[in-house]
Amino acid sequence: MSTLHRRPRRIVVAGGGVAGLILATRLGRTLGATGRAEITLVDRSPTHIWKPMLHTIAAGTWNIHQQQVQYLTHARAHDFSYVPGELDGIDRAARRIHLAPVRLEGETVAGARELSYDALVLALGSSANDFGTPGVDEHCHRIDSQGQADAFNSRLRAHVARSFVNGNSIDVAIVGGGATGVELATEMSRMVELAGGYGTQTGIRQRLRLTLLEGAPRILNAFPEAVSTSAAAQLRALGIDVRTGVRVVAADPEGFVLDGGERIEAALKVWAAGIRAASGIADCGLGLNPLGQVIATPSLLASGEDCIFAIGDCASLLPPGAPRPLPSTAQVANQQALHLARHLPAWLSGEPLPPFNFRDLGSLVSLSDYNAFGTLGRFGFFPDGFVKGRFAQWSHALLYRSHQLSLHGPGRTALLWLAEWLNGLVNPKIRIS
Ligand SMILES: Cc1cc2nc3c(=O)[nH]c(=O)nc-3n(C[C@H](O)[C@H](O)[C@H](O)COP(=O)(O)OP(=O)(O)OC[C@H]3O[C@@H](n4cnc5c(N)ncnc54)[C@H](O)[C@@H]3O)c2cc1C
Repeated sequence: MSTLHRRPRRIVVAGGGVAGLILATRLGRTLGATGRAEITLVDRSPTHIWKPMLHTIAAGTWNIHQQQVQYLTHARAHDFSYVPGELDGIDRAARRIHLAPVRLEGETVAGARELSYDALVLALGSSANDFGTPGVDEHCHRIDSQGQADAFNSRLRAHVARSFVNGNSIDVAIVGGGATGVELATEMSRMVELAGGYGTQTGIRQRLRLTLLEGAPRILNAFPEAVSTSAAAQLRALGIDVRTGVRVVAADPEGFVLDGGERIEAALKVWAAGIRAASGIADCGLGLNPLGQVIATPSLLASGEDCIFAIGDCASLLPPGAPRPLPSTAQVANQQALHLARHLPAWLSGEPLPPFNFRDLGSLVSLSDYNAFGTLGRFGFFPDGFVKGRFAQWSHALLYRSHQLSLHGPGRTALLWLAEWLNGLVNPKIRIS
């Protein structure tokens, strides 16, 4: 670490999601603006979107373009650099990362490149995990990125249009009764309900046949039981077929096959179960768990490393004395980014890094405009209490709003909210074309 004091400091943040973009923005404002370090953010996508809202983009109930942050302009405003590219390797000895060529519309716009670092922060996120289930890659949608959410939305709109014209049913099955699957199911229900209000054909809402398949005995298995029970009751009230304790063994063009041979017919299929770390770090020699996540120490350094950090979903951190690693949530990603943003400047000057302490502020699941359920953690006004209804919906919405505040500051955030509100007054509530 002694060399860090002499050389110019180059901090590379790989992945500009919930954790990475907050970190690059904060470090840009502190170290970048004062010339104490060069901060570089690498992401394979040109725009950032807050991942917990991807299901609303998939369902078409939120405008993707209004919520995107362009890395290039954001970086310029916050004194860091943005480099487009996909990390596909790390030379730990030489302290360099490798970036794959960038291709746009079939054309190579940048070749393979390397970037040197003094400190590397891996914030590459995660994706759903099909555990090799046959047919999933070929026949299922996933909702892990903007591109995937948008692709699903195109298909959904085509099915809704067909149902308007021909009166066909809209058959959808989602595998995974975690927050992603549950939130997507309710958001789709809401989309079709709103679509019914625009069409001349009545009854489209009744033609939506939505099945949610979950392997565990209850949906939202990571949440307290009261949240699962209330959410399942709400989904069933919306006409969603909630099947728990079922194992999907294959997917094909017509639907899913369950263990035991039963078939779930669905033209639109989504795989939203399981988790595995994003690609790019598998063969770098870092200590990984079976899900491909980097094993992190309490200081957020990758295990055995002295200048590679891992935060958010791509990391697995078992706090001392805890029974299991921290969950892969936006809350953990955000707090880890803030922790590094606070302590990296002193670490660069040779100070030790204090351990990261997770403050559990609870967990909430939003069931579109219908309801929200959750707990508010061990802190605040309702320690460990169950919350629902408008208060829970408001608390859930606040998560995204505080993310925007962190990125843009109060002035710009207020303008963004105003623009969103005005847009809501003049545009349809859903994407129908
Ligand atoms: C539909 C949905 C709903 C969710 N709802 C909630 C919720 O209500 N509450 C909650 O706490 N959590 C929720 N989550 C989980 C939450 O989104 C994640 O825990 C959080 O986004 C993790 O943040 P991250 O920064 O680690 O990764 P991400 O936000 O996923 O960001 C990773 C970034 O890395 C980039 N990247 C990936 N691989 C590479 C590579 N090789 N090279 C370069 N760039 C790369 C990606 O483009 C992306 O920008 C939800 C997730 C989904 C999909």
